[in-house]
Amino acid sequence: MKICVLPGDGIGPEIVAQAVRVLERLREDGLALEMETALIGGCAVDACGEPYPEATRALAREADAVLLGAVGAPKYDALARAQRPERGLLAIRKDLDLFANLRPAVLYPELAHASTLRAEVVSGLDLLIVRELTGDVYFGEPRGIRTEHGERIGFNTMVYSESEIRRIAHVAFRAARGRRRRLCSIDKMNVLEATQLWRDVVTETGREYPEVALSHMLVDNAAMQLVRAPKQFDVMLAGNLFGDILSDEASMLTGSIGMLPSASLDAHGKGLYEPIHGSAPDIAGRDLANPLATILSAAMMLRHSFGIEEAAVRIESAVRRVLAQGMRTADIFEPGTKKVGTAGMGDAVMAAL
Ligand code: NAD
Repeated sequence: MKICVLPGDGIGPEIVAQAVRVLERLREDGLALEMETALIGGCAVDACGEPYPEATRALAREADAVLLGAVGAPKYDALARAQRPERGLLAIRKDLDLFANLRPAVLYPELAHASTLRAEVVSGLDLLIVRELTGDVYFGEPRGIRTEHGERIGFNTMVYSESEIRRIAHVAFRAARGRRRRLCSIDKMNVLEATQLWRDVVTETGREYPEVALSHMLVDNAAMQLVRAPKQFDVMLAGNLFGDILSDEASMLTGSIGMLPSASLDAHGKGLYEPIHGSAPDIAGRDLANPLATILSAAMMLRHSFGIEEAAVRIESAVRRVLAQGMRTADIFEPGTKKVGTAGMGDAVMAAL
């Protein structure tokens, strides 16, 4: 099981170091894990002049899974678009054909008060957002800014093919089958033709999964329902743009962006695993970042790419135990709990393992 480790920028190296400790521990206990590190994002721009260098591409292609920290920093914001760190992320997703993004939003009972929503609205929350990741308006052509009659016009193209919709729908139905068997597909079919096709193809695909209860919801209503009554959802399926927005909204139901892992999968189980947050330049290098989202991403890797459920559960149980012991990084700290730094949280997880 070969893992390509890409720490990236900002807090990336600090949080990935803690996840690597956890994986090394599992290796000592007998898992045949191999890890090799490479550059992505701003650090790659500094070293090689591009955010997704050839050496990284080769390593990522050869590996069975990729563990990524985060990319980006303010100093790169003035660069040309093709050289920005975030381009490295889009490039690796496209290069590895990682079309299925899985973002679980689970509220740990110990953190019920960390959410900005009332505890009774969110306690017990356990939902999964399945987001299509390689299509939609983010990749559609034509795109650009042109000048017509003396004024600038910005334009992008929302486009989905039937096969793109079908393959992500299968991922969502299979995920729902392994959970509470409810799938809510998100679209804007009342206005956008591309999403009428989305609804039609998801409905057709659903006939192959009679055990899953399929519903559809317009994206504006879904945004509202997520904060009104989020526990009505089990699995939500969305295209790239709507999924991007709704999954960030869902993340806040759980209190901190520092708690949430994600998986981006290809059609064969290879995946890229990363926390959903960015490089947090405001706290980088200060031992303040919460490493749990990255550690939980490593658990998702063991489950989805390597099929070692036991090891995934072992990590997740260790995280729960640490929270139950009252260990908190600054982002989830409450009076009465014990504040620890990035490395201290890593120590606690290692002890709980
Ligand atoms: P961000 O997610 O980096 O930070 C948002 C806020 O959450 C900040 O206050 C930060 O301190 C806090 N935060 C994030 N992760 C945390 C953690 N693990 N522990 C504690 N607090 C945490 O988003 P941003 O500030 O909008 O973006 C910063 C940079 O990250 C930008 O360059 C952006 O492009 C990039 N970015 C990268 C990714 C990625 O690599 N996947 C995703 C989003 C943003």
